[in-house]
Amino acid sequence: MRIHTFDTTLRDGTQGEAISFSVDDKILIARKLDELGIDYIEGGWPGSNPKDKEFFEQARGLKLKHAKLTAFGSTRFAKNSIEDDRNVRELIDAGTPCITIFGKSWDLHVSRALGITENENLTIIAETVRYLKDHGKEVVYDAEHFFDGYINNRDFALRTLEAAKHAGADVLCLCDTNGGTLTSFLAQIVADVRSRFDGIIGIHTHNDSEVAVANALAAIEKGASHVQGCLNGYGERCGNSNLASIIANLELKLGHTTIGPDKLQSLASTCRYIAELANLPLRKDQAYVGQSAFAHKGGVHVSAVMKESSTYEHVSPELVGNHQRVLVSDLSGRSNVLYQLQQQGLADRMTEQARRDLLERVKEMEFQGYDLEAADGTFELFVLQSLQPGVNFFEVESYEVHIKSGHATATVRVNTQNGIRTETASGHGPMNALDVCLRKCLSTIYPRIQDVRLTDYKVRVLDSKKGTAAKVRVLVEWSDHPAHRPEGPLCADQKVRSWSTVGVSDDVIEASWNALVDALRLELMRLTEANASARAVVEVRR
Ligand SMILES: [Zn+2]
Repeated sequence: MRIHTFDTTLRDGTQGEAISFSVDDKILIARKLDELGIDYIEGGWPGSNPKDKEFFEQARGLKLKHAKLTAFGSTRFAKNSIEDDRNVRELIDAGTPCITIFGKSWDLHVSRALGITENENLTIIAETVRYLKDHGKEVVYDAEHFFDGYINNRDFALRTLEAAKHAGADVLCLCDTNGGTLTSFLAQIVADVRSRFDGIIGIHTHNDSEVAVANALAAIEKGASHVQGCLNGYGERCGNSNLASIIANLELKLGHTTIGPDKLQSLASTCRYIAELANLPLRKDQAYVGQSAFAHKGGVHVSAVMKESSTYEHVSPELVGNHQRVLVSDLSGRSNVLYQLQQQGLADRMTEQARRDLLERVKEMEFQGYDLEAADGTFELFVLQSLQPGVNFFEVESYEVHIKSGHATATVRVNTQNGIRTETASGHGPMNALDVCLRKCLSTIYPRIQDVRLTDYKVRVLDSKKGTAAKVRVLVEWSDHPAHRPEGPLCADQKVRSWSTVGVSDDVIEASWNALVDALRLELMRLTEANASARAVVEVRR
């Protein structure tokens, strides 16, 4: 069956605690949701704040290919006539083809929050829906607190739907506004509504009981065909239902059509894009689209997925635009190492014994507190060191750093193929000073290391109970991406990449230094590796 998707990231999603979008962000997200094939995009509540009003002004220039933009607001205020209600006027002025209005379904809210009679509430719903229909709008009627209302006073809750339906509402959307309804109860209630009303039934769920996605799917199984949620599940309190998971489940497991299989392959990248604009990391464990959704760590699992991916993957990751990953850690078996080597095209170059030795080294390092799952660069360095035994480029003779009034000065002494070099440099903080100084020592001999840029730096205390005597792990992220380089185009043979290295010590400076040395050493080993491969290619051609 065709299920209509309704994304409310730009309205309900922005009510999430950490979420704030500028008008420009909202326009970009609306475009992206349209590209993904979402049917309705709820842009905001024009009557509630100037930013949303501005969004609808700007959105007039949006040429959406597929989606309908919808403005959100409440039924008219009890004391206002419909013509004089500012909120309703703003909804019409937003100029969208569709309007979503919410009305009260729960008698408690009617008597306590609004302080009006049940009949007055029914009149307000009917008048508002009819007025919007008379203005040529498609109307989605959001029955706020429908499930709580139904449980408290079924007859009244159903009469509110009747009022909206009779006035011409195109969709009756049942909302679990407080997110407290469990799936079996919700399914029964949707089935009852379905048996009493023709036309489109919608579902809008929140995740306060951690079952928002299950609730949405159950409602659809009971006959709803319009589903509201937010990609990434943003929203007030514990969030709205995660529309990305709903879409994937409907398409891949329940045989329904939403955005279709081609667009489904853009699901992961769309979720990442929205997270980027929200300035939040996409949750790694997010179902279907997260980085860890198809990541395998246990040795037994890895060995099996390499033979047949369905042994530990519920769907093929490519269907939603994600990909399989295999992590290397102390839980690894030989298969994890082999997988990584295959990814890097190095599997044939290492003997079985060398792979075993590499795995032992990984396990030993993890035991000491290194985290090689996150530090792909450190693992790659181990591999290259195993392939190029004895190649080292430089030895560190000594390093020191002094901090005076917040200003750091480092002195580094290294032994290189051109003899001993000693340099001094200052920087913003000890890590920066050491970084500048080590490059100064090496860059005249190896100019390419100037391309490597530090992009992120994280420190984690490993055994915090020991207080200041605890071990620390420093994870440093690097890139040779042009965006991180101040000067010059890339060399033609240079691959753009980012990687992480890790250092562990009782001393944060030493841990940082180890991660720094490994990153630069890795870059140099990559160059010789590339040269070795190039030589091998030439030799084969001859
Ligand atoms: Zn909501």
